[in-house]
Amino acid sequence: MAFKEAAKTSDVKVAFSHCSYLINLAAENNEILVKSIVALTHEVERCSELGLAYCVLHPGAAGSQDFELAIQKIAAGLNTVLQNTAGSKVMILLENTAGQGTSLGGSFENLKQIYDLVKSDRIGYCFDTCHAFAAGYDIRSENGIKETFEKFDEILGLDKLKVFHLNDSKGDLGTHLDRHENIGKGKIGIVPFKYIMNNFEHIPKVIETPKEDDWDKINIELLKSTVHK
Ligand SMILES: [Zn+2]
Repeated sequence: MAFKEAAKTSDVKVAFSHCSYLINLAAENNEILVKSIVALTHEVERCSELGLAYCVLHPGAAGSQDFELAIQKIAAGLNTVLQNTAGSKVMILLENTAGQGTSLGGSFENLKQIYDLVKSDRIGYCFDTCHAFAAGYDIRSENGIKETFEKFDEILGLDKLKVFHLNDSKGDLGTHLDRHENIGKGKIGIVPFKYIMNNFEHIPKVIETPKEDDWDKINIELLKSTVHK
């Protein structure tokens, strides 16, 4: 397979996928719920075939259901997918969200509630800086980012943090706006990115910043420049 061949000689050490945004394991509509479980099962199977370590998933949105029920549905869906793909090593990483609308996963406590109903070593987490900030975690200062990770460790366990999404934020603290900005150019600023680059060297990171012009290159060079030599 071309991907596997290329992966052997690539500098990229860990590769992982992001699930379709159409997947909603908390869907109210049963047809959508079933389709979501099938789609996630296929995603995990594809990752297995390609030798990817993880697939990143937004937990889901409750719609008009209460959060308790939505959480139970997400956990049941995850359990089904894990059973469907028993024998696979691929981990499903729950991504913290901006908590926009009725989205679940805006708080660490919320992710923990889902995890507690699944409790599988194939579940881990992806930390998105923009989402955390928009959800109300004030990560702008070194103290703020430190405290946020202390909280993360206490509630979820840093050993289960497998991937970073590094994005600055167009929206302000606690606005629940999921709008990504170039690194250091948004409301978050460079401080927490510097902290993450120097304290979590072993965890893979991707940027999901605006794709115009040379910005990918500029963002990556800026992030690399923050690493203490
Ligand atoms: Zn993300």
